[in-house]
Amino acid sequence: MSKINIENGGYVELLETFGSDLTVVNAARVSFDKESTELNNKDKSLIKYLAKNNHVSPFFHPQLHFRIKMPIFVAREWFRHTIGFARNEVSRRYVDTPPEIWLPEEFRERDTNLKQGSKSTSVENNDEMKELYKKAVNHSLETYQALLDAKVAPEIARSILPQSMYTEFIETGSLSAYARLCNLRLDPHAQKEIQDFAKALFVLIQEKFPVSWDALMFKISS
Ligand SMILES: Cc1cc2nc3c(=O)[nH]c(=O)nc-3n(C[C@H](O)[C@H](O)[C@H](O)COP(=O)(O)OP(=O)(O)OC[C@H]3O[C@@H](n4cnc5c(N)ncnc54)[C@H](O)[C@@H]3O)c2cc1C
Repeated sequence: MSKINIENGGYVELLETFGSDLTVVNAARVSFDKESTELNNKDKSLIKYLAKNNHVSPFFHPQLHFRIKMPIFVAREWFRHTIGFARNEVSRRYVDTPPEIWLPEEFRERDTNLKQGSKSTSVENNDEMKELYKKAVNHSLETYQALLDAKVAPEIARSILPQSMYTEFIETGSLSAYARLCNLRLDPHAQKEIQDFAKALFVLIQEKFPVSWDALMFKISS
């Protein structure tokens, strides 16, 4: 599997990887001028030891290369993870095709605990909120098109578009950087919509770097 579609829209696609669990091992073993050719039990223990004791630099070497499509309000949070990542994003200065919009199915209730963000339950008038939301989005899309039709430059017209619009980007990051991102964004305090993307990352990365990933994410002792 290399592409996971997110339930309510968007996707995470793993395009390429560099390295394997052995890359981590050999980055660490170079300290003693040693090298493993096949991952053995001692190597697995070493990976667990490194992760548990925060010896992170061997995990900087494996790289993952993704194409991701997510709503802009999620990307705003995602892009806060900066160290160990490179990103290039579609630009609405140059692209003026009709934007795709993320439409929530459930309008979750506000939680009285501010840090929690929302409850898991929807507001009573969910359907009404859906209609209200769609109306506002459509108005924004129509205005965008009207501006373009009036020869307004896309770089100005785009400012009327909502945060729920999808964006796409190419992202490359180290195994270590993705572990930090997932640790933060799989936390129940993170917004559900970003958790969904982090879960997709988790599955795709675990498949390629099973020992290192479990060691980094679960800090399993050796
Ligand atoms: C649940 C949740 C809620 C959040 N709420 C908010 C919010 O309300 N407002 C808000 O602005 N952000 C918020 N954030 C974003 C958060 O503050 C971080 O910007 C984001 O999680 C990225 O963290 P990171 O450690 O991956 O950062 P990266 O920028 O990728 O940095 C990685 C690591 O490098 C080191 N580092 C990076 N820059 C520096 C530096 N300048 N000096 C020293 N060390 C550095 C740190 O150890 C850091 O952990 C929230 C994040 C989460 C997960």
